[in-house]
Amino acid sequence: MRHSKRLDRIPPYLFAELERKIAAKRAEGVDVISLGIGDPDTPTPALVLEALFEGARDPATHQYPSNRGRPEFREAVAAFYERRFGVPLDPETEIIPALGAKECIFNLNLAFLDPPDAALASDPGYPVYTGGPLLAGAEAVLLPLLSERGFAPELEAVSAAERERGRLLYLNYPNNPTGAVAPDGLFEQAVEFARENDLLVVHDASYTETTFDGYVAPSFLATPGAKDVAVEVFSLSKGYNMTGWRTAAIVGNADAIAAYWRLKTNVDSGMFEAVQLAAVAALEHGAEAARETTAVYQRRRDLVCTALAEIGVEVTPPRGTIYIWAPVPEGHTSASYCELVLEESGVVLSPGAAYGPNGEGFFRISLTVPDDRLLEAVERLRSSLGG
Ligand SMILES: *Cc1c(COP(=O)(O)O)cnc(C)c1O
Repeated sequence: MRHSKRLDRIPPYLFAELERKIAAKRAEGVDVISLGIGDPDTPTPALVLEALFEGARDPATHQYPSNRGRPEFREAVAAFYERRFGVPLDPETEIIPALGAKECIFNLNLAFLDPPDAALASDPGYPVYTGGPLLAGAEAVLLPLLSERGFAPELEAVSAAERERGRLLYLNYPNNPTGAVAPDGLFEQAVEFARENDLLVVHDASYTETTFDGYVAPSFLATPGAKDVAVEVFSLSKGYNMTGWRTAAIVGNADAIAAYWRLKTNVDSGMFEAVQLAAVAALEHGAEAARETTAVYQRRRDLVCTALAEIGVEVTPPRGTIYIWAPVPEGHTSASYCELVLEESGVVLSPGAAYGPNGEGFFRISLTVPDDRLLEAVERLRSSLGG
């Protein structure tokens, strides 16, 4: 059947491929341990479920929601941003619910890019920063994230032609897949860069609530002048174990949010209002539950880093996210290593190259399986390494 050319422009979504491979292995009877997808394994906090049940009992939530979101939702996000980040937001104009950060990021491309515009996107980075622009008929300009620069993009190195075409700049700290936290001075530099080049910064705040060793992640919007040039996408997926719920909010620059809203009224019909009320409960009362989940990830991080060191794989323990970003053994590409590991040991890893050319030479471990399975996976890796 014929499909659009725009669809042919993007590579198959990495995790769709992984899911197929895992299913095939399981069908062969292999006990697969998937460290591929970053999807929390522990349940959504009970207080969030209770709020959903209560909200769902009210028939008023059964009708089409408003795309602007319920006042309670917008006010809860504003109060959270003030309390947590010291960032004041106007609930009327600076906050809108999104059906997950993924939906929001994708649709921002449709709202802001025309050919030959481009989005400046981290390499390696979350695949939607590059796939989204392509599906919008535009381009992605890759900004290498290198460990020697603390995984900060080198904005000074963006060429005049790229600055001319660039309309969006995607940033994401704490960072998937590298686990890096916001490098000193980068946010200030990005505000300046956006001003000079008239582009919108989109900060993906999917992991601000998942940090370790006492590190507290800032909001991009806490940077002086940020609200003039930036929006932030705050997702509840990872921090509150709510990936299945599709709950996020876009906050920040009112004009950008109005454009997103205008687009969105043509695309979907908003977030189930009972889910909005559940998100309110998470934002108002979920801090303790989020801390408990984070403690689990910190423990698993330590467990995996130690076990990897024992088999000769040196990694920097990340201060945030739910991932370990590790170098592939010599003599392998990231794809060949991940394939070998899956074949030989039934462990699914994400090949770094799937996140961009500069992800080559790395693989990503997701800490979203129980401790004993995580240890078993690292033990199986030992044999794949011939150790
Ligand atoms: C998981 C993830 C997302 C997706 O978040 P949803 O709110 O579940 O759509 C977005 N960005 C990054 C960097 C992620 O790791």
